[in-house]
Amino acid sequence: MHELSIASSLVDSVLEFLDAHKVKKVLTVRLAVGELNCVEAEQLCFCYTAITQKTAMENSTLEIETVAAVVQCPRCDYRGSPKYWEDARSAAPIPTLECPKCQGTVEPIQGNDCAIKTIQFVA
Ligand SMILES: [Zn+2]
Repeated sequence: MHELSIASSLVDSVLEFLDAHKVKKVLTVRLAVGELNCVEAEQLCFCYTAITQKTAMENSTLEIETVAAVVQCPRCDYRGSPKYWEDARSAAPIPTLECPKCQGTVEPIQGNDCAIKTIQFVA
């Protein structure tokens, strides 16, 4: 499961930070998730809660911030938002890597990764 691997690597890096800074308890972790990651926030929070049990991150809140995607087309030089694939079954439109101008394959410039933005903690 995609969300589980994101959550576990997130928790691993936060726990490393806690070790290095002698932190007792984490209150909030704010995560920026690129739109192109197609992460289900609900799933991610669920995995997060499960793996943080019995750690210094237990009962902390995971805040997820979506980073809008920016793509660039090597063929026609288009740069901007990706083309969205509208799927009636999914709640949000899904970004694709198809150029909205020439139908070529675009390259993601932004919105392709996950990064921890802030960690609120009690020392
Ligand atoms: Zn193009």
